[in-house]
Amino acid sequence: MTYFDVDWSPRFNFGEPRSTSGLKGVCVHTSEGNPNITAENLANYQLTSQTGSYHVIVDLTGKRLRENTDDWATWSSGNQGNNILLHICFTARADWTRQQWLDQPKMLRAGATVVAHWCKTYGFPARKVDTRSLPGILGHNDTRAWGGTDHTDPGPNFPYDVFAQMVNDVLNPPKTPGGPVALTPDRDTKAQLTGSPDDGKYPGWDQLGGRTVVNALAAIGAALKIPGFKDQKAGS
Ligand SMILES: [Zn+2]
Repeated sequence: MTYFDVDWSPRFNFGEPRSTSGLKGVCVHTSEGNPNITAENLANYQLTSQTGSYHVIVDLTGKRLRENTDDWATWSSGNQGNNILLHICFTARADWTRQQWLDQPKMLRAGATVVAHWCKTYGFPARKVDTRSLPGILGHNDTRAWGGTDHTDPGPNFPYDVFAQMVNDVLNPPKTPGGPVALTPDRDTKAQLTGSPDDGKYPGWDQLGGRTVVNALAAIGAALKIPGFKDQKAGS
């Protein structure tokens, strides 16, 4: 599972190496500036100012830029959080309403693929936790319990419930919505193949010229002049 679109980790060299064996969860941040900043421009600002860093930043377009590899302690929160958490930052603001967050599904879904990768790799559950109930997902605000930071991002309205569900959907894709037509075994399978019983759902397939699957096979066989194959006209 690829969890980034652009890799700038060779360029970020402040922070320090760390073992991944002690990792306990994922910490969510917001960049707090203009939310329309691109991932590259935010990363470039952090590189030149050396004011902070994350593992992955995600912008409004859903672009995922890796700043650091997991085995690198970033400058994201207080010491404890930098040592044992993976840090993701959205180009967003902690004063956003819930609706403002939900209006950015591209960003949230892209972020969910990042967090899903980490949950799968390190065995974290995709659920909101606090510092006492790790492993899981929490915010910079939660890490104030360890001291060393006074930041409150990603803000009180970050939709952890929706985000955790998105992460779970990446890990366990829903079976039916948006996927292939859901089948009721036997009856629907027969209807798909033969067009009978014709309940209007599978009278014939547009991409087969209005034929059922069986009639399409017959038409192919007839065109190949295979003995016994007879084309039935579309829709018949
Ligand atoms: Zn933060």
